[in-house]
Amino acid sequence: MTIDTIILRLGEIYPPGKFTSSDPFRCLISTVLSQRTRDEVTYSATEKLFSRFGTPSEIACAGTDEIEALIREAGFYRTKAPRIKEIARIIQDEFKGKVPDNMETLLTLPGVGRKTANCVLVNGFGKDAIAVDTHVHRISNRLGLVATKTPEETEKELYRTIPKEHWKYINEFLVRFGQDICRPVGPKCGACPIIDLCPTGTSRLTGIK
Ligand code: SF4
Repeated sequence: MTIDTIILRLGEIYPPGKFTSSDPFRCLISTVLSQRTRDEVTYSATEKLFSRFGTPSEIACAGTDEIEALIREAGFYRTKAPRIKEIARIIQDEFKGKVPDNMETLLTLPGVGRKTANCVLVNGFGKDAIAVDTHVHRISNRLGLVATKTPEETEKELYRTIPKEHWKYINEFLVRFGQDICRPVGPKCGACPIIDLCPTGTSRLTGIK
């Protein structure tokens, strides 16, 4: 019941759908671009890249320096540009231009870990999956949904304990909640819409307003 209430209340604040894309390839590249980068910058860099190149074959044939110039604002562009080019090449050459729609195959792509793969499954394919990043890991532990040490353990526990109908919303809601309110340092417990469900809020944490 707790998780139902958490999802309901966060869904009222953060209407779902912001991160979905009807194009799995764009979703995959955007998620790679988002690594260690703020959302606004990710959107902007994705927009610039896809306004110039729209398909795996176009990116695979592009010059690395041209990709770098388009995604520069996303940071780590010297690492991300060749990675994006190689991902595009593999998708074009080995998967006939189609992004794989399963975890096992997505994990074979360079720079794609479980979090990125799960984001693609949820946002690019509309599948039920849970993408666990630092926000999801931290907040799940603060809320007592899990008691884990690593994002990998958190992912396993959330799959075990959360009803499937909620899986695809967990990442989007908790990431936005983690950026706005339940921040890593100084969570705004005084403004929290689920403080009554949180065993670690109020006096136990610093930064209460
Ligand atoms: S009460 Fe504080 S720690 Fe708990 S979920 Fe809300 S913001 Fe996070």
